[in-house]
Amino acid sequence: MLSLRCKCGALRGAAHGLSPKTGLRSVCYCNDCQAYAHFLGRASDILDADGGTDIFPVQPAQLEITLGHENLTCVRLSEKGMYRWYTDCCNTPIANSMAWPKMPFAGVVHSIMDYAASGTKRDEALGPIRARSQGKYGTPPMSFLFRVVGFLLRGFWKKQHQPSPFFHADGRPRARPRILSPVEREALKHRPTTV
Ligand SMILES: [Zn+2]
Ligand SMILES: [Zn+2]
Repeated sequence: MLSLRCKCGALRGAAHGLSPKTGLRSVCYCNDCQAYAHFLGRASDILDADGGTDIFPVQPAQLEITLGHENLTCVRLSEKGMYRWYTDCCNTPIANSMAWPKMPFAGVVHSIMDYAASGTKRDEALGPIRARSQGKYGTPPMSFLFRVVGFLLRGFWKKQHQPSPFFHADGRPRARPRILSPVEREALKHRPTTV
């Protein structure tokens, strides 16, 4: 079990059954993830030196929020964008979900994981970075993509999209997402990518 904790500590939770063996840890350098970090006003501690976000995919059923549910909030960078879950107490990103709630996937952002409280380190708990995608890195290697497909198939098979800390069983989001206008989104994208 890995503890989850936002920066100020108002929201806490746990991620169960994470294993470095899944080999799914990756860093995303896409414009949207960068815009999101700027939206939160926390680019300096979310993005790495090259503007990447370190993400670990899990099945929603592996996650639980145990304290501070009222701080859960959500933004979508466009009407069809991912649901990007974060805390409104201190703007800590939690995880990104697909627009389709039946997808057994949540990409947990590194900032919410509390390694010290769990007596571990990131590399120890999640394994090394296996893929870097977007920007100068292009697409991840085929072997990584196959692992992602396997992960999703297992999730569908076991119906791991529920219970979810982000969606009710009927698919309604647990917090009403704010949807950015094209103007708001563009303004975020024209920030420097590195900090
Ligand atoms: Zn907080
Ligand atoms: Zn991204």
